[in-house]
Amino acid sequence: MFGYRAIMIDCSRHFFSVEELKRIIDSMALLKFNVFHWHLADDQGWRIECEKYPELHEKASVRESSDFGGVHINKPYGGYYTVAQLRDIVEFCKDRYIDVVPELDVPGHCSALLSVMPELSCRGGRTRVQTHQGIFDGVLCPAKDRVYEVLEDIFQMLFEIFPFGYYHIGGDEAPRKNWSECPDCRKLMEQLGIDSFDEYQLYFMNRIIELIGKAGKTAIVWNDCLKSNGLDKSAVVQHWMITGKGKSATVKWANAGRKVILSPLDRYYMDYPYGMTSLKKVYNYKIGIKGFDLRGRESVLGVECPAWTEYIDDNTSLEQMFFPRALAVADAGWCGNEDKNFRKFLKDIKIPLRLIKRKGVHYMPRREWVPGIISSVVQAVKFAVRGLKK
Ligand SMILES: [Zn+2]
Repeated sequence: MFGYRAIMIDCSRHFFSVEELKRIIDSMALLKFNVFHWHLADDQGWRIECEKYPELHEKASVRESSDFGGVHINKPYGGYYTVAQLRDIVEFCKDRYIDVVPELDVPGHCSALLSVMPELSCRGGRTRVQTHQGIFDGVLCPAKDRVYEVLEDIFQMLFEIFPFGYYHIGGDEAPRKNWSECPDCRKLMEQLGIDSFDEYQLYFMNRIIELIGKAGKTAIVWNDCLKSNGLDKSAVVQHWMITGKGKSATVKWANAGRKVILSPLDRYYMDYPYGMTSLKKVYNYKIGIKGFDLRGRESVLGVECPAWTEYIDDNTSLEQMFFPRALAVADAGWCGNEDKNFRKFLKDIKIPLRLIKRKGVHYMPRREWVPGIISSVVQAVKFAVRGLKK
């Protein structure tokens, strides 16, 4: 059994109500998940009420329109959780022995934050809350003291709301363009004797990890942060990039005895259609990465299934993407790689699925769990085409 068994919901790309989150969390508890990773801020919307910087929830929580997968919805879209609602979810989770891991993704994926605080960027230009999927140039400027002051304020607020041990600070997909053109960044890099932007990002991440550590908490980062050596050893790395440098770096990190969470995108990402990631494919994933030695295997804290929501905009879809696939992730988190038997698993999940249904949660109809080859190809092509449309 692994100590960390998580689901993640991205509430930035699409917003989900407290009632809906509770419905899913209730099902999670039934499946013995014990962590709810809550993705609360991204380019497409800020979702946390913030007394000290009210523009964050008043303005950065709203985008002017939505353009996901070529579908244009010409009306403002927004929403945020009040402090009372955040606390309500915390209590709800505590009652079910579930820890909440809030995520504030830095230094990239910060368009919403920068839309109201342009002074935290390299050039100070105003960005907008993004309306479509993508990786955007707006990043926090590691050379500006104000960035650390604001983040400290926001984290202090979060520390009072979320009493649990882990905080996710992102660190993925941070573009280098603005840093390369910023005189302040150039000057700081020179002072630090740093000549690569990967290292420069680590300087920034390590400062935030230190901030989290001072509060007695542990930071989690995406495995993008392993592109250069020097990530603070206290950090937990979440493995999502499964190819190239990302994969080998995670292996090296774990084999050195440092902690990892496994959420390989081709197996555990719940936003992929069943035609690409069938229930059987999720179930058959053997926890681990090729190249792990004994120490590497022992460094695995656990598993997580994230649902990114660019293309998931309603409760039923969100639930159907999770269930029944999340049951396979829960099974792996609970039983590890022992006695894998897909047929038996299909029999075993009948009762939990019935109980989930009784809670009002939808699961994917059985005929869709393991689609045939033609349906799989169609779904994969649709998924790829949708991702290309802006
Ligand atoms: Zn800069």
